[in-house]
Amino acid sequence: MTGTIGKVVILGGGTAGWLSACYLAARRPWLDITLVEAPDIPTIGVGEGTWPTMRGTLAAIGIAEAEFFAECDASFKQGSRFDGWATGEAGDSYLHPFTTPPRGEAEDLIAAWRSAAPDLSFAEAMTPQARICAADLAPRQRAMPDFAAASNYAYHLDAGKFGALLARHATGRLGVRRIAAHVNGVIGAPSGDLSAVQTREGETIEGDLFIDCTGRAGVLIGGHCGVEWIDRSDVSFNDCALAVQVPTLPGSAIASQTVGTAHEAGWIWDIALPQRRGIGCVYSSRFMDDARAEEILRSYIGKHMPHAAWNKLSPRKIAFSTGHRARFWHRNCIAIGLSAGFIEPLEASAIVLIELSLKALAENFPASRETMDIHAHRFNELFRYRWDRIIDFLKLHYVLSAREEPYWQAQRDPATIPPRLAEQLTLWREQPPSNWDFPQVDEVFSAASQQYVLYGIGFPAPAKLPAAPSAKALAQIAEVREQARALVSALPTNRAYLDNLAAATQSPALKETTA
Ligand SMILES: Cc1cc2nc3c(=O)[nH]c(=O)nc-3n(C[C@H](O)[C@H](O)[C@H](O)COP(=O)(O)OP(=O)(O)OC[C@H]3O[C@@H](n4cnc5c(N)ncnc54)[C@H](O)[C@@H]3O)c2cc1C
Repeated sequence: MTGTIGKVVILGGGTAGWLSACYLAARRPWLDITLVEAPDIPTIGVGEGTWPTMRGTLAAIGIAEAEFFAECDASFKQGSRFDGWATGEAGDSYLHPFTTPPRGEAEDLIAAWRSAAPDLSFAEAMTPQARICAADLAPRQRAMPDFAAASNYAYHLDAGKFGALLARHATGRLGVRRIAAHVNGVIGAPSGDLSAVQTREGETIEGDLFIDCTGRAGVLIGGHCGVEWIDRSDVSFNDCALAVQVPTLPGSAIASQTVGTAHEAGWIWDIALPQRRGIGCVYSSRFMDDARAEEILRSYIGKHMPHAAWNKLSPRKIAFSTGHRARFWHRNCIAIGLSAGFIEPLEASAIVLIELSLKALAENFPASRETMDIHAHRFNELFRYRWDRIIDFLKLHYVLSAREEPYWQAQRDPATIPPRLAEQLTLWREQPPSNWDFPQVDEVFSAASQQYVLYGIGFPAPAKLPAAPSAKALAQIAEVREQARALVSALPTNRAYLDNLAAATQSPALKETTA
């Protein structure tokens, strides 16, 4: 290992590994990047929901949107809808959309919502996106430039196909070297840094900086560096998922949001892609056994996709531990992806954390060993903050529920609620969530996200509302209604958009331009 940081070794070829390779190669093109992946260890390949950051990531690494859609069976995601979370009764549903409320004082806007639009949900009053989602519409028109939006959006995607696209892009266009080999040894320098990894096949791969993307194995960060795993299952109870992919009927509607439907001991995700729906039952093994989870999943599919024959589907059980590393960057080793940590996929926070880790690393890339520990310290503080905020935000969805099953009662047990969240819940009875609660740049879940969940599920409006809303706030609420009307008549359905795009990308003219 030399004093300058030029050689990067990425261990692992899942979404984390290949995104890391593409992002660093595109943003720091002078680096010499090698990715080592074990052909005998499969990737987890579930993550189908992303965050709007993915548009910026694709643009940064140089993948055109049309190519991404064509290669990944992708669709648009404009938020998450939560069905059955408040009480479990009919009609119990709220949306956490990706578009923020209009600019202004939150108290004023809430007062305007209560007085001028009591017929609308909080999300419907604050953004036209709620009506766009309800009508299964795309967030943009085809003529718009890549990644431009009429309504903020991310993607749903086929994780296996996404990984394959990233791998082709990294090796074919960005100069990343791929080695298919199983790493079974690490050579350490006397300083305590890593200097090389060794493969079962007999190769030694030297590096200045090592990125551990080996998923749950955490081969470098845990196995070699011994960085402690902090268990967070005391707050977040779910530890199993039963996942299945159900083919869709041609022409069927494609939902604009992930739908999360609560059940007696967890929830079901439902993600619509053009060719299939990814559906999974998430549950806590403390409160539900596998047979009951299968029954719940089967009944959901029977109700929502009656054409699907259960005996032709292949459900896959995934058990997971909830927690994260005590440190994510140790000496010259950084954990990105599942090796850094995992919490249930309720708000699709895993891939966005990969993107945020890469942004932080690329923009603070140590040019020499001398600055590495300073960067590591700052990175660790920032990501510990982010993990804590994500855990709080996911818990918020549970503590506000009035469901009575034992699992839901346990979720509300004060002993399981992180102190900062408990404190904020008390504060939010007086004032809405604001940037005072979430002051960081690039908060994963901003004050707006907290408001959508709080007022969506039925948390009382703050006590401190103005006696009468301002004329500006009333005009903003009226403007949202007007924009919703205009956009609903102007935007195509997701199905029409994606089918037309697929037809165009299969045309010989476009094939030539993308070849
Ligand atoms: C049920 C479930 C649902 C999810 N849903 C979402 C979602 O909707 N949105 C979201 O953002 N995220 C989601 N995730 C998380 C998401 O799937 C992961 O964050 C993402 O796939 C990244 O995984 P990874 O690359 O870190 O690990 P993996 O995919 O596990 O990849 C690990 C890689 O390391 C390699 N490897 C391991 N050991 C060695 C070794 N000794 N030598 C060489 N190579 C090795 C393997 O071959 C593999 O290539 C979900 C996860 C689960 C479990």
